[in-house]
Amino acid sequence: MPGIIVENISKRYDAVTALTDVSITVDNGEFMVMLGPSGCGKTTLLRCIAGLEQAHTGTVHLGQRCVYSAFAGIDVPPRERRIGMVFQNFALYPHMTVAENVSFGLRIRHVNKKQAETIVREAIRVVDLEGFEKRKPRHLSGGQQQRVALARAIAANPEYLLFDEPLSNLDPKLRGMLCAQLKRIHRAIGATSVYVTHDQAEAMVLADRIAVLQNGRVAQIGSGKRIYRFPETAYVAEFTGNPKTNILKGEIRRGEDDVFFIPDADPYCVIPVTDELAGLDGRYIILHVRPEDVEVVKKPTAGEGHLSVLAVDEGASGFAHLRLGDQLAQVLTRTGPGKRLSVSRGQIVGVRFARGNVYEPESGEIIGSFGYGPDELGRLDESRWALQL
Ligand code: ATP
Repeated sequence: MPGIIVENISKRYDAVTALTDVSITVDNGEFMVMLGPSGCGKTTLLRCIAGLEQAHTGTVHLGQRCVYSAFAGIDVPPRERRIGMVFQNFALYPHMTVAENVSFGLRIRHVNKKQAETIVREAIRVVDLEGFEKRKPRHLSGGQQQRVALARAIAANPEYLLFDEPLSNLDPKLRGMLCAQLKRIHRAIGATSVYVTHDQAEAMVLADRIAVLQNGRVAQIGSGKRIYRFPETAYVAEFTGNPKTNILKGEIRRGEDDVFFIPDADPYCVIPVTDELAGLDGRYIILHVRPEDVEVVKKPTAGEGHLSVLAVDEGASGFAHLRLGDQLAQVLTRTGPGKRLSVSRGQIVGVRFARGNVYEPESGEIIGSFGYGPDELGRLDESRWALQL
């Protein structure tokens, strides 16, 4: 059942085109994350859904109800859309207690006192702030203040919750904790939610599905896993690198026994890939490989690409930077969370690309993926991702 349907929304601000023909359907009860860099149109889209901004074309439906149609001249006011919003700047009333802040909207709507008390108690319980009811905002941490803002939104019993980078003012540790709490809270209240962020790690934790935006257009919509594994464009692959991923231009060559990738950055470094790429023999492409899919061989033979280790991150991430040609081009690798690669600076290692994606060099559109078992491709029900031999 649809929760929020945005169809063919375009929006301009004078000379700036903020959104171009955006269509997104958020299922009932789903948690959809809009992910993209600053200026890609995330906030504008959220404001169009809320009714705070009017698109030049397109429609917005909330459930069965059309709340906006540029063509038919329908524009239901924000307060009649049953929407709750939580922003980056949580703007609590400083002179009011937590309970008063949460009940503010109910008082304005003249909800009777007993009923309001029950609603406020429940909202405060959901965000885990019992015992803080009588405190003023200045006596709360940033994370607690943001939870008050969330409780205030929940208290209005919205069918739809919209979040605009609500955690971006908080420190990383608090952000991680609140992320997990938000997920739990969403499960408890079940409101159809749209959450805007530029932080892909946050998106991966929170989302049922992610919509990646690029220059006011939808680049891809899918589960976090699908977007991470099968990015439909080189842009999506790069944007979802955490903190970085490998995007290299070069040529595919079929050898006698193996298939190789010859990177532009170092034509003497011939890196083996899987046989599925044999069909692309002689083709110039963009290759994308996640760091954990770069296989490192410590005692390399002639069959592997030889690269020297530039730098090793000894911290939890376990990344190693491998030199490819000049120092600007690098291959990033790691074994996986918590495991060490145990390589040192200056060491020569062998490299193979175990799995990844291939894109057209001009458009950045996907050609296909390699190194995935039939299981993974099958589960995703996307046979078109497998490269034809
Ligand atoms: P951020 O993450 O920085 O908030 P965003 O992805 O939410 O960015 P928007 O705020 O939606 O992006 O802005 C999209 C584009 O529209 C930007 O180029 C921005 O400069 C422009 N824009 C947004 N609001 C206005 C406005 N009121 N007047 C003029 N241009 C605007």
